[in-house]
Amino acid sequence: MPIHPSCKICVNDWPLFDHCIADLGLTIAYLFEDQFFPGWTVLTFKKHRTELFQLPREERAGLMEEVSRAGQALEKIFDVRKINYELLGNQVPHIHWHLIPRLQADPDPLKPVWCVPHEPVRLSAHQLTERIHRLRSALGIDPNQPV
Ligand SMILES: [Zn+2]
Repeated sequence: MPIHPSCKICVNDWPLFDHCIADLGLTIAYLFEDQFFPGWTVLTFKKHRTELFQLPREERAGLMEEVSRAGQALEKIFDVRKINYELLGNQVPHIHWHLIPRLQADPDPLKPVWCVPHEPVRLSAHQLTERIHRLRSALGIDPNQPV
């Protein structure tokens, strides 16, 4: 994977390694460190690219397949009202998707998550393992297989 030395995704500084769910092929899926919105997942593109138009058509299509696969896995697990898909890159300009299940119990379902003030929720080690295992199962991946 081409490394961009000032990019925190390229240098494995973010997302948190112990939050890794699975290698999906073109992307790696992680649980976001703040689980206030349960299931919030981040898919990082393995290559340092900043814009979708920089990708060859087939790679872009493959990326969207992986985003869709992850979204479907989240829908299997959580009581989803709507899944938000966000590709921003203002803070980390390396293609990464935020997939955020907005649950029936969402505190402010009409707003983007960035506009919902809240205290970040960190999972305990046990909760983290359990949530990652559920997501791996929903993705059709053996939960105990190493990433
Ligand atoms: Zn990068």
